[in-house]
Amino acid sequence: MNPGAVRAICFDLDNTLWDIEPVLVRAERILADWLHRRYPRIPQRFPHALMLEMRAALARERPDMAHDFTFLRRETLARAAVAAGYASADAGRIAHEAFVAWHAARNRCTPYAEVLPALATLGRRFRLATLSNGNADLGVIGIAHHFEVSLHAAALGCAKPDARAYRALARSLTLEPAEILFVGDEPHADVIGPRSVGMQTVWMNRDKGAWPAALTAPDACVCDLDGLVTLLTF
Ligand SMILES: [Mg+2]
Repeated sequence: MNPGAVRAICFDLDNTLWDIEPVLVRAERILADWLHRRYPRIPQRFPHALMLEMRAALARERPDMAHDFTFLRRETLARAAVAAGYASADAGRIAHEAFVAWHAARNRCTPYAEVLPALATLGRRFRLATLSNGNADLGVIGIAHHFEVSLHAAALGCAKPDARAYRALARSLTLEPAEILFVGDEPHADVIGPRSVGMQTVWMNRDKGAWPAALTAPDACVCDLDGLVTLLTF
């Protein structure tokens, strides 16, 4: 690793800055309750497992949109509404309202305890950015001010580990890839992908698991953002 070359640090979001699993479980429960109250025929006809199957089928049907989780969720809800007997003229509105209910819950993310102080420390020395395949809203979560650039797969038109996503990041920062340190929890999306375009990489290994033996190792591993601050030798 060459810390001296790093001008900007780009973070993955889910499972890097906060634990996303409990957030998603709660958001699904809130959406289910909302649908039961407002449009009960949808959950009666389409239990959660079936909705997941429909969303996966839609991603296969529309590979051009498979990177856009917001589209997949809204379109699946719209189709389910029609199939459950609601007027097709209302399906778009129903899907929108349901998505808004889910998305509000999805943005109730609580950063890991060390994240905000570490971002403040790192932000004094490096430009900070995010690149996520998910649809978290950093403004709603309350951390947007830490980041100069925040990119999402849906807006980019491609998802990690597509090399175009990392090149778009470098362009947005007007930096060479070698000047960007990418930090995240997913080996392919956050290490192998950014490395393929020449970025330095740090694997966020909060669970203290083993790096997949078949993959080229990251430049460094940390267990939290305090580890990253230490790594960058403050
Ligand atoms: Mg992640």
